[in-house]
Amino acid sequence: MVLDDLGSSLRGTLDTLRGKSRISEEDVDEVVKEIQRSLLQADVEVSLVMDLSDSIKERSLEEEPPGGTTARDHVLRIVYEELVDLVGESTDLPLESQTILLAGLQGSGKTTSAAKMAWWFSKKGLRPAVIQTDTFRPGAYDQAKQMCERAEVEFYGDPDEDDPVKIARDGLDATEDADVHIVDTAGRHALEDDLIDEIEDIDRAVDPDRSLLVLDAAIGQGAKDQARQFEDSIGIDGVIISKLDGTAKGGGALTAVNETGSTIAFLGTGETVQDIERFEPSGFISRLLG
Ligand code: GDP
Repeated sequence: MVLDDLGSSLRGTLDTLRGKSRISEEDVDEVVKEIQRSLLQADVEVSLVMDLSDSIKERSLEEEPPGGTTARDHVLRIVYEELVDLVGESTDLPLESQTILLAGLQGSGKTTSAAKMAWWFSKKGLRPAVIQTDTFRPGAYDQAKQMCERAEVEFYGDPDEDDPVKIARDGLDATEDADVHIVDTAGRHALEDDLIDEIEDIDRAVDPDRSLLVLDAAIGQGAKDQARQFEDSIGIDGVIISKLDGTAKGGGALTAVNETGSTIAFLGTGETVQDIERFEPSGFISRLLG
């Protein structure tokens, strides 16, 4: 990681270590304080920030810097390794035939993410199809259809059918020539029992290879309950953080990652189908600290 990625105040603090060959506890405390400030501002959960702080402090003071390494480079390397450990690696997504189920509350960005992912897979040379099973939100069908048209990917939905499980089954049949099936589901405003029952039924019907939880970047610690519920009901393999083009940094989603033992798959960075990035630790770390 280049120092530029770390945010200006942290960079400044690390630069005060320049020229020092030994590092003091006060030096490390200063660095850790800067990191804490940024991460808490980015909505990262306090306990995660504290664990990270302890590891950085312990390692910076206990590990012997390799010969010729300055105190600054030694701490920088540890800070970076610990931050990568915090945000995790990217969710494994083999470029092969698969079924992906999307979960999340209403408004989290599921439908948008479904079309974006389909666009992403199509650019990788696969043939995706989006299946819209959201019969709850008025307009979900039209929205998904239009976005899939823009993404130039196959779409299945049935505005006259109100059984999402039937739509899911019919959709898989109707799009059997596609390689990647992305099944969008209904959300609710809150974690209501009927939402969980419905997504469990869809999960059983489509038997996905992976289930991804879509979270708005602005989610704070509400991520914890959502993540736990979805994890307990269908199992979460990865997280998509939407709306990272806004002011929110997405640190709350790390709570969900931690809660589900999963990783981050994609980042949503706008309203159009191309506004999707594969998660990659160092870019996300710069965002969190920036
Ligand atoms: P769903 O109810 O979970 O399917 O959510 P939608 O996909 O309908 O998204 C809810 C709103 O958020 C819509 O107005 C989307 O255009 C918007 N949205 C989704 N993802 C993004 C994003 O990455 N950036 C921005 N700016 N808006 C987004």
